[in-house]
Amino acid sequence: MRWTPGGESSNIEDERGNSGGGGGGGGGGFQLGAPHLGIGGIVILLILSVIFKRDFLSLVGQGGGSPAPAYGAQTGGGPVQAGPAEQKEVQFVSFVLDDVQSTWRQTLGPQYRDTKLVLFRDQYPSACGTADQASGPFYCPGDHKVYLDLGFYEELKQRFGAPGEFAQAYVLAHEIEHHVQSWMGIEQKVRRMQESSPSEANALSARLELQADCFAGVWGHSTQQRKILEDGDVQAGLNAAAAVGDDRLQKASGHLVNQKSFTHGSSAQRVEWFQKGFTTGDVNACNTFQ
Ligand SMILES: [Zn+2]
Repeated sequence: MRWTPGGESSNIEDERGNSGGGGGGGGGGFQLGAPHLGIGGIVILLILSVIFKRDFLSLVGQGGGSPAPAYGAQTGGGPVQAGPAEQKEVQFVSFVLDDVQSTWRQTLGPQYRDTKLVLFRDQYPSACGTADQASGPFYCPGDHKVYLDLGFYEELKQRFGAPGEFAQAYVLAHEIEHHVQSWMGIEQKVRRMQESSPSEANALSARLELQADCFAGVWGHSTQQRKILEDGDVQAGLNAAAAVGDDRLQKASGHLVNQKSFTHGSSAQRVEWFQKGFTTGDVNACNTFQ
């Protein structure tokens, strides 16, 4: 990608010096989005709320997406030990973060509100649970932030076999697109549908994921129009989309491929929807719910 290393985005919350250590529950693989509270969990919380006359549901961020408490006020930015390669990565994610969101602002208008990107190392508490290596990068609707450990990019290259700047950009863009879905109210609608028909929950989740891939493709289209892409970039993005398909991930983890448990879509579907966004450059082409 043709980009000029510049400064750090004002939408980055750099917690690399404040994270790591401690316990906490792991997530379930790459890009699961927010940990989802099942219907059983909601029932239990409702019962607890009645017994204790306290709204436990709102405490887990189901009640309207209010920002979470600061979890022991880990703010302020401790000293960060980072080599020049990592500093360049920070500038790269800054470029992607700002470019994706300024592209959306042109489509959605000035009322669009940016997401923040929280950079952490090893472990960090989000409103959606602990961000760590197992959770991979994700968007948390509860605090409207994207969480990324830059170490994931090494994993993307080595473990998922998806090197290249545009592969990295695609992964980050996909997470930012979840914020856009949340901003548009799509994420909330899908969540309600999941709660009313739990048997469709995985299929609905896959549709939401594929739409995020399509939106990322729309952004890719815009970078191509502006001649930011170089030879091989598109292939790197498609390769990354394929690398993180549920069938690949399930095979890689030694499981049999089970279509019903797909929450993100197969490799072929992810590539298809990314391409749809990329070739059309049209948000309206991204109706994965039809
Ligand atoms: Zn996702």
